[in-house]
Amino acid sequence: MKTTVLKFGGTSLADAGQFRKVRAIIERDPSRRFVVASAPGKRRVDDTKVTDLLYRCFDQAFSGGDFAATLHQVDNRFFDIICELGIDFDLASEIEIIRTHLKTAPQRDYMASRGEYLNSRILAAYLGWDFVDPARCVRFDDYGVLERETTYKMLAETLRDKEHAVIAGFYGRKADGAIKTFSRGGSDFTGAIVAAAVGADIYENWTDVSGMLAADPRIVKDPRVVEYINYRELRTLSYMGASVLHTDAVVPVAKAGIPVNIRNTNRPEDPGTTIVAKLPESAELHPMTGVAGRKGMSVVQVEKSMVSDGAGFTAVILDLFKNYHVPFEQCLTGIDTVSVIVRSDLLAPAREKILRDIKEKLAPDVLYVEDKLSMITIVGESAGPSPGLIGRILTAVAAAGVNLSTVNQGAGALNLIIGVGEDDYEKTIKAIYQIL
Ligand code: ASP
Repeated sequence: MKTTVLKFGGTSLADAGQFRKVRAIIERDPSRRFVVASAPGKRRVDDTKVTDLLYRCFDQAFSGGDFAATLHQVDNRFFDIICELGIDFDLASEIEIIRTHLKTAPQRDYMASRGEYLNSRILAAYLGWDFVDPARCVRFDDYGVLERETTYKMLAETLRDKEHAVIAGFYGRKADGAIKTFSRGGSDFTGAIVAAAVGADIYENWTDVSGMLAADPRIVKDPRVVEYINYRELRTLSYMGASVLHTDAVVPVAKAGIPVNIRNTNRPEDPGTTIVAKLPESAELHPMTGVAGRKGMSVVQVEKSMVSDGAGFTAVILDLFKNYHVPFEQCLTGIDTVSVIVRSDLLAPAREKILRDIKEKLAPDVLYVEDKLSMITIVGESAGPSPGLIGRILTAVAAAGVNLSTVNQGAGALNLIIGVGEDDYEKTIKAIYQIL
């Protein structure tokens, strides 16, 4: 039988009305068997997520302050859901356990995890399904790194005999018993490891948007929803700032070859975006899958005459970045020139030392740093080679009056990264989106 793993995000489970929508979605398809739930998110723009309230409770308790009012807000959020849905659930005892914890030795991750824990228990009660506490089957090592193989085994074993279950997202447990959370938004990751552990046919990630947009809607008006995208394109666009899924969440499902379908709980009829290894034949092909980018970048520019005739010049420069623990994003080499592109905030602590060492070790003719740059990436692997496309993109950028600082396109399909001044960022994205 087909198995679908679903993850519902915070806005999808923010109140009783959203719980009703979630149940209707689940009941529409019998393959929807395992559900990963987030904590209640925002109900309105000015609302506060339950996870943020829980962090606030922790901060107040840890600093010896009064957490009663904040905990009361948490209590109210769950109380409203339970009452409106008419669920039989002993919330008072659960809140009492949290209060006692806060009064004794409060732990930050434990507190943060209570949003997912309670919401998933309530959802399980509402659906009449089993609840699975990831403290029993998501395992971290002493350093807080996920023990992937052990976790897959434990999850698979726990879920093997269950027809249905709700699993709390966002956390697991270390060997010493302490609760450990993933980074913010980490329920996406829990959903992905559950999908991989049970060998799901599809991982549906239900949120409050109808999929991934081909460009940032704050810059481009009504951008197209991407119908299909491959794992690598998604990774590139997410890395460059397009947020639709927790960046780590792609890895477990990509490895297992499980497609991910991003869906909108408020518009379940929308097909959303499907992330796949290979596009189906029927997919409509676009020369560009999406465009995204980020500001706050710098280029370290090094030039030395005749250096390309020897070997090791670039290696020395990159070694310095490595030794000072500054990860670089791109390294472009030309005849006698090397440009290293890095995030300005990551370069900052080692900037002077790196420049000093380059001078000492390589005695370059030219050495400078250009700041206030933005990098824009345009991906389009799916449609295959499209002759003249890069020319059209660069022509559009030039027509917009933008000066290019860097251009980087490796071999193969469209995966172009261009560097432009921060002030030209929005203008460039608009120009590129328009022609594509
Ligand atoms: N509730 C957590 C957060 O707000 C995790 C999640 O929603 O995925 O980050």
